[in-house]
Amino acid sequence: MYIEFQKHLQKELAQIEADGLYKKERIIESAQGAEIMVKGKKCLNFCANNYLGLADNPQLIEAAKKGMDARGFGMASVRFICGCQDLHKQLEAKIAEFFGTEDTILYAACFDANGGVFEPLLGPEDAIISDALNHASIIDGVRLCKAQRFRYANADMADLEKQLQDAQSCRFRLIVTDGVFSMDGNVCPLDKIYELAQKYNAMVMVDESHSAGVVGRTGRGVTEHYNLRGKVEILTGTLGKAFGGAMGGFTTGRKEIIDMLRQRSRPYLFSNSMAPGLVAAGIRMFEMMSETNDLQDKLHANTAYFIKKMEEAGFDCKPSQSAICAVMLYDAPLSQKFAAKLQEEGIFVTGFYYPVVPKGQARIRVQVSAAHEKEHLDKCISAFVKIGKELGILK
Ligand SMILES: *Cc1c(COP(=O)(O)O)cnc(C)c1O
Repeated sequence: MYIEFQKHLQKELAQIEADGLYKKERIIESAQGAEIMVKGKKCLNFCANNYLGLADNPQLIEAAKKGMDARGFGMASVRFICGCQDLHKQLEAKIAEFFGTEDTILYAACFDANGGVFEPLLGPEDAIISDALNHASIIDGVRLCKAQRFRYANADMADLEKQLQDAQSCRFRLIVTDGVFSMDGNVCPLDKIYELAQKYNAMVMVDESHSAGVVGRTGRGVTEHYNLRGKVEILTGTLGKAFGGAMGGFTTGRKEIIDMLRQRSRPYLFSNSMAPGLVAAGIRMFEMMSETNDLQDKLHANTAYFIKKMEEAGFDCKPSQSAICAVMLYDAPLSQKFAAKLQEEGIFVTGFYYPVVPKGQARIRVQVSAAHEKEHLDKCISAFVKIGKELGILK
């Protein structure tokens, strides 16, 4: 059998390569941070989700080591059998405190949180109304659930209203949105979503993966940004981005919802509990968040500085309210050439084009971090300007 299957795979892989969509891994020979080593060369990293620069934070490393010393390396169990330590309950309480919610349930990743949130809560009589640009894990989670599916164009409130009207005959309605959309860096219009949810009797779920730690004056995410703390029924998020960048996911929100997920959510019931070291570091991380706002302030200042300088230089940046800056080039081959030349200059970024973004909307996505110093930002901007001139984008 395998001979035929192998041929089939080889053909498909060759096609992916021919379409220019083959993903290659770039090997990093250092810890994650503003400066990384690639092929023995120092580069500046502008494509990590390491928004607060915590991925190599000494306090988190220390907390993880202490957690491992005190509670061991692994749990070797799911939560409800013998995989729940005092540390897990402490981290869940910290997350609820951070977001102003009632309770929290941990997962191995946010992919699991989203995969396991819909099916236990909603059935065929119900409706899920989802933003067209929501993350793949939300799309997969919705697929696993028997609820009726409605989709609205990205952040399009007229379309959301129409879908809510169409879903009026359903028993329960849940609107689902990413907090920050990762290709444009736009924040979801949660104020208007919340208003429509009130008007059409719906619940709201926000995936805070790209927004938590970043958006809002103190980084409490989109519910802080729109002054809606505690008002949204369900939030999901990751510990794999701003919050240290290791791994772990969570769903936080109304008490009964979290309670039901502990009874029925499959990635929680059938997948291993988070490792003690990561949990201990997570607890320390949320303590740091409540001690000071310095990292958020630095990130917001860095992002504003970067976008201002890029626009002054003549680049076309998408309006962003997050740490994501989409530098628009529109042309797909140009975006790849630009990104490759930036890499030669020691700047790590990613060029995106169709089908990841709409046709004719190719871009370079820059992710700013609190780990960046002004000299890092300036070096990145000068490299953009140099190549922009070389490639005839800037005059
Ligand atoms: C990154 C991301 C996820 C997945 O998070 P993991 O913890 O890495 O699985 C889910 N949703 C959104 C919106 C994301 O950006």
